[in-house]
Amino acid sequence: MAVIPSGQQVAGGAQVPLPTVDVLVAGLGPGGCAAALAARAEGLHTLAVEARGPQATRSQLVLVRPGAQAALRQLGLPDITEGRRTTTIRHVENRLRAALQARVHADAAAHPAAAPRTALCWHTGVVDLQAGTERVVVTLRDETTGTTRQVAARHVIDASGGRLEALGRPARERAGPRHVVSTAEYGTPPWFDGIVGVRDPATHELFLLFPTWGRRGVIAYFDAPTGPRPLAEQVVQRFGAIADRLGLGAPNEPLWAVDVYQRVLRRPNAGRVLPIGDAVGTVDVLLGAGMSTAIEDGADAARSVAAACREASLRGALERLDATSRMLHRRHRASALRGRLLLAARPLVERAWPSATLPDVARAQLGPPPLLWPAVRFLFGRRPSTS
Ligand SMILES: Cc1cc2nc3c(=O)[nH]c(=O)nc-3n(C[C@H](O)[C@H](O)[C@H](O)COP(=O)(O)OP(=O)(O)OC[C@H]3O[C@@H](n4cnc5c(N)ncnc54)[C@H](O)[C@@H]3O)c2cc1C
Repeated sequence: MAVIPSGQQVAGGAQVPLPTVDVLVAGLGPGGCAAALAARAEGLHTLAVEARGPQATRSQLVLVRPGAQAALRQLGLPDITEGRRTTTIRHVENRLRAALQARVHADAAAHPAAAPRTALCWHTGVVDLQAGTERVVVTLRDETTGTTRQVAARHVIDASGGRLEALGRPARERAGPRHVVSTAEYGTPPWFDGIVGVRDPATHELFLLFPTWGRRGVIAYFDAPTGPRPLAEQVVQRFGAIADRLGLGAPNEPLWAVDVYQRVLRRPNAGRVLPIGDAVGTVDVLLGAGMSTAIEDGADAARSVAAACREASLRGALERLDATSRMLHRRHRASALRGRLLLAARPLVERAWPSATLPDVARAQLGPPPLLWPAVRFLFGRRPSTS
């Protein structure tokens, strides 16, 4: 790991220098990967840690919005989605992680004698953060051995998806109504083109199917509306029954359901720990924007940290970071508002789909809503290819 001789810690009464980096990126989801790639491109001494392993598993279907496509192009990744705007989060995450690892290896090969400026640590969780005016002391735990060590970082980019709240970081507050969502990937080849779905007029549930990458399977999305608390277990059961009825077979991962109510930090975060992506706020999944926002945030945050590191004065550095955290916060507040508007319009959106009684639905009853593709073309310029 790159070491800048600065921090000191007291160990057994003696002053021991603490390994110090310009920026520690906590979490390597889409936001953290974009941040680490941008930090490396800026030449920052970077340590990027991820509590889990390098292989991503989540198979939600995601849209890669134009802003995120542009951010990825700027990071030298023009083809991350191979021209498609819809893909799975796993695909994007794995490609970002692979690009990051490849660049770190290429740097090491190009400068074998120099200490690497970017280091990646998998299975390494942030378990404590002590933020001061000049640096943040971070305790890291090796999740395979349980051993801990400390690092000093001039800045921390919190890309943990909000998990650092458990360590006392400011908590996000609820910013929208609840609805429970379950998604799963199946190996059954899609028998349909594009996106098909169905709604139950009695329960207001929505069930949608998307073809996966290369049409090798399908992703099912089940949305139980806001209102009297639908229990996650009940949603999972109903989802499983519909999937069985449609002959989707066994899901690739066990079924799960999550309450996707939106959360946003009450105020922009000041100081040396800069939250990005879901750590600033979760966006309603119906907007299909969470991953894209995280990617844009990550690239913006790392550039801002680089600019702060170049500032001559402490005050100038902190002002820069404050301006960035205000900008990220505004971005997430705006998304939360769009999410609330979309949920308010949900009864109308719902009526666009064919209706049937769930879970007694048959394949022939699923279909596209007539206005889907004109609306997608209007919003995104063209119909995305999912095949
Ligand atoms: C059901 C569902 C459907 C969705 N659909 C869409 C969609 O269609 N389109 C879209 O754009 N978005 C969608 N999203 C949202 C999207 O998944 C998130 O917005 C996006 O993953 C946020 O990225 P992130 O990098 O901020 O955080 P995350 O993806 O949550 O990544 C955080 C990373 O940090 C790691 N981590 C956590 N704690 C620590 C720690 N203490 N130390 C080190 N590492 C840590 C985690 O292991 C994880 O890898 C959906 C979400 C859900 C739940």
